[in-house]
Amino acid sequence: MDKGKATIIMMKWDEDAIEAMKQTPEFVREKAMAKVEERAKKKGKKSVTIEDVNESYAAVFGKDPGATNVAVVRCEIVSEVCPGVGCLKAFNKRIELFKEYDKNARLVGFFTCGGCPGRRVFRLANNLKKYGVDVVHMSSCMLMEEPFTRCPHKEEIKKSIEGLGIKVVDGTHHEVGQYAHGMSFHKR
Ligand code: SF4
Repeated sequence: MDKGKATIIMMKWDEDAIEAMKQTPEFVREKAMAKVEERAKKKGKKSVTIEDVNESYAAVFGKDPGATNVAVVRCEIVSEVCPGVGCLKAFNKRIELFKEYDKNARLVGFFTCGGCPGRRVFRLANNLKKYGVDVVHMSSCMLMEEPFTRCPHKEEIKKSIEGLGIKVVDGTHHEVGQYAHGMSFHKR
C-alpha cells in the first residue's frame, strides 16, 4: 500500500487487517480501506482491526441483521460423484441438520475441502468471514462410515474452522450415526 500518495488512509492498521484487504482488487482497495476506517472511526476506534474489516465486508455484501449466514464444507473426493443435492435440498427445506434456521438464513458458501488433509478449508473459511459467515456445517459424507469412507481428518478440519471463531455443526442431511442404524443415506 502506497501510503505516500494516499490521502484517505489515516488510521493505524493491524497487519492482519491489511493482509485481509489484499483480497480486494487493487484499483478499489484504497477506497474500500477508507470505508473501513470510516466505520471504525464512528465506533470511536483509533486503529483498524481484522474485526472492522470483516464487519465492513459483511455490511457491503448485505448480511441482514439477525440473519444467520451458513456455509457447507464437503469432501473433495465425494464431490466427484455427488453434486451436493442432499445438502442443498436439506438447507432449502430447512430440514434435518438445518431445521433450526428460519427463512432468513442464507447459504453463503458451499465448498469442498480441496483434498486431503483438507488443504484449503482454513483459507476458504477465513475468506467467508468477510461475508459474515456464522456457522459452517461439515457435510454428512465427511462424518459417516458409509456409503463413503469417513474423513480421517475431520477433527483437524473442525478445529481449524473453530479456530477462526466460526461455529461448526456436524452434518447436513443426516443425524450422524443414523446410517449405521439402518437409515437410508439419502433420506427423503
Ligand atoms: S480431507 Fe477428508 S473431506 Fe477432504 S478429501 Fe480427504 S477424506 Fe475427503
